Amino acid sequence: MIRINPHYQKLQASYLFADIAQRVRAFQQRRPDAGLIRLGIGDVTEPLPPACVAALHAAVDELAQADTFRGYGPEQGYDFLREAIARHDFQARGAQIDADEVFVSDGAKCDVGNIQEIFATDIRVAIPDPVYPVYVDTNVMAGRTGAAVQGRYQGLVYLPCTAANGYVPQLPDQPVDLIYLCSPNNPTGATMTRAQLQAWVDWARAAKALILFDAAYEAFIRDDGLPHSIYEIPGAREVAIEMRSYSKTAGFTGLRCAYTVVPRDCMAWCDTGEPVALHGLWTRRHTTKFNGVSYPVQRAAEAVYSPEGRQQTRALTDGYLRNAQAIRAGFQALGLPCTGGDNSPYIWVDTGRDAWAFFDLLLDKAAVVCTPGAGFGRCGQRHVRISAFNSQANVEAAMQRIARALA
Ligand SMILES: *Cc1c(COP(=O)(O)O)cnc(C)c1O
Repeated sequence: MIRINPHYQKLQASYLFADIAQRVRAFQQRRPDAGLIRLGIGDVTEPLPPACVAALHAAVDELAQADTFRGYGPEQGYDFLREAIARHDFQARGAQIDADEVFVSDGAKCDVGNIQEIFATDIRVAIPDPVYPVYVDTNVMAGRTGAAVQGRYQGLVYLPCTAANGYVPQLPDQPVDLIYLCSPNNPTGATMTRAQLQAWVDWARAAKALILFDAAYEAFIRDDGLPHSIYEIPGAREVAIEMRSYSKTAGFTGLRCAYTVVPRDCMAWCDTGEPVALHGLWTRRHTTKFNGVSYPVQRAAEAVYSPEGRQQTRALTDGYLRNAQAIRAGFQALGLPCTGGDNSPYIWVDTGRDAWAFFDLLLDKAAVVCTPGAGFGRCGQRHVRISAFNSQANVEAAMQRIARALA
């Protein structure tokens, strides 16, 4: 008799997006001409930068010719891309990362979900609340938690992110071995300062713990004082793995390319207390279970670092950030406290009431869709996430309607 992985039965169904879809459908049936605007989208809306499109076309032509054809590439990614990443994303900012510490993949979601399998099942895991659900669910699947009780899994350490701490997780007050940090944050838009990250790095070194640093929204940072990479923080090479993605940076959500950095200094310990380099473990895992990102897609990612590519991706993220500013200013003018939107495409609005009541109000009175925060964790109750991933015209129209509806 084939039996299932029993941990999958602990997973709580997320009704969030089904619930939203159902309420939106009902609204559209009632008011088909309302001109619904979606500000709940966690996906980019603008097309690929032309530099990436040109690189894609050229690479496809190479694959079409016998003398330039390529089959399997290196599992960890082609050197041309790993070297461009190390140089532009890290060394240019004073972070000592080498090309062979970069593992190219088809998504930060897969990487952040897969990385946990190189750690023991009985490690103690800390998760900020609210959180990107992948961090939680992949640990549930791996058997690192007990059952869910009132929306929280037993055995996980939840770190509340609230207005009181600026929506940035505080150091744990109990032993923890692995912590997931995301900055700029999805869903709150909060971005960690150098001092806040330094405190986490110092804590991890003292605790022999590891930080998984999700920097998927790094390209939205504009404040010169904020770190773009955890490796800008002294000591981080020993205690941090960083994930990045071209999804939000360059509109690659449909194209798929990302990477994970595992520095050679990064250690975990085996049962006998011997240190083991995570670089070797992740190399083994990645080369066993993954066969590389397609050649044209890696050429498209390389083009992000060309002079035109840098200018075009900057223009893309600038456009989303202009939307974010307008959204943030609009809600603040209505007296609702907001986080994010400055160095992030998300704005986390404290609605001062039940989030679903606020969702219904925006839908019925303004024909605008947002995302209720409770779907990201208990601390998200009373909050909604507003996304800047939309056209400028849609954002302006939505904010005018919201201002009228809430006035
Ligand atoms: C969008 C997003 C990613 C990127 O995932 P991909 O699989 O690379 O598209 C990673 N982490 C967070 C928090 C995200 O919101």
